[in-house]
Amino acid sequence: MSNHIEYIKGRLDEVSPTHCLVKWKHASVYLAAGTVKSCCHNFYSNKKSTINDSNLAFHDTEKDQKIREELLQGQKPKECDFCWNNEKTGSYSDRLFWSSLSFMRDFVDEVAEHQSPKALSPSWLEINFSPKCQLRCAYCGPEVSSAWKKEVDEFGPYKTDPYNGAIDYLIRENRNPYEESGRDEFREAFWSWFAEIYLGIRQITITGGEPLLSEDFDKLLEWIDANPHPELQLSINTNLSLPAPVWDKYVQKFKRLRSEGKFRNLFVHPSLDTWGEQAEYIRYGLKLPLLKKNVESYLKENIGDLVFSCTLNCMSLPKLIDFWQYVYQLKKEFPHQYISSTSEPLLFPDFMRVSVLPPSFIKYVDEILEFLESQGEVFSDHEKNGLRRVRTLMEQGENPEFHVKQKKNFYTYFKEYDRRKKTNFLLTFPEMHEFWKECQALCEPSKSP
Ligand code: SF4
Repeated sequence: MSNHIEYIKGRLDEVSPTHCLVKWKHASVYLAAGTVKSCCHNFYSNKKSTINDSNLAFHDTEKDQKIREELLQGQKPKECDFCWNNEKTGSYSDRLFWSSLSFMRDFVDEVAEHQSPKALSPSWLEINFSPKCQLRCAYCGPEVSSAWKKEVDEFGPYKTDPYNGAIDYLIRENRNPYEESGRDEFREAFWSWFAEIYLGIRQITITGGEPLLSEDFDKLLEWIDANPHPELQLSINTNLSLPAPVWDKYVQKFKRLRSEGKFRNLFVHPSLDTWGEQAEYIRYGLKLPLLKKNVESYLKENIGDLVFSCTLNCMSLPKLIDFWQYVYQLKKEFPHQYISSTSEPLLFPDFMRVSVLPPSFIKYVDEILEFLESQGEVFSDHEKNGLRRVRTLMEQGENPEFHVKQKKNFYTYFKEYDRRKKTNFLLTFPEMHEFWKECQALCEPSKSP
């Protein structure tokens, strides 16, 4: 992998020191909200109102063109701070990592020759069809979870600083996925643009909400069935907490499409951030036994790869070793399939970052790294590097003044979370008792011992 990154870095440098393939060859579309963006780290822009503007492609905006202009000139646009901050620490940023993936890398000549701030037809398309979701994960929100929206409608947003879960800004910025006006026109425009670009796409990533609850996901599978694309890779992010008969129906469908050569490869990405009841607390509504059953029925059919999407937040650490032992068991049980996990550090809400924890929690990451290293070739450098990156963030910690605010928000949020969901933080996370007390003392000094 690092060979690909070094190669692509050299090729990007020939254009400019900040050049990035993602900004030209990627598009994300949120169908229900009528919004688009050209990198996961940038903000969505509303497109519903400008959808008939023939000066711009379906997925392009003037704001994105300005960012591309800056990248071509070797500048560092603010919208890409995520990457510049990473590069400052000497790590590979997503600019380099994503650009090095085959479905981006293969287009390096096309982008280099293009030399224009206009978007190109995407080779990597991410689609979020709908916010429909049955889970209310702690770090999620009403923008992408209808169950979260229902909770906020009933109880209001969480009174952290700033409020968590408010949706006024979505309405103000005209990107509210629950607003129906203009949605049908946008949806129609999307499907007709999709038909035009389909054969140039190499990777489709489906996200949500829970994508398997959306009718448009079925429509996508019908499209693929009717329009074979032997180079297409399909990647599905799912909470995998669907009843087994629903999931099994999809497994059988994937199996048929794959055996008939309708696409090249399938990646299923179950979201899971740690193990046991701690995992079920963080991803509220997750049923771990059901997820395990669904993972097994998928792997038994041997129709695609499995990569857990592990979003590491401060509550993930105490039981994370159990999660990695589960990944290990799966690798042993299904040796001919690609099974892996990411370790993506959570950035927002900032009070749930791993870096809010005291340094004593680094021992959990060290324990896992030791376990992975003791298994020889079973775990890849990529898997270990993800955890090393998390460790570095924990060592760096937070700015002391900001850290106080984060700890206050942490306590305010989870005290209310427990009230609304009838959960119990302290019983679920006994390893975080001291941290909880420290946060509580900042909010309720009179209750501290
Ligand atoms: S945030 Fe990073 S990956 Fe995204 S467009 Fe900017 S440089 Fe590329």
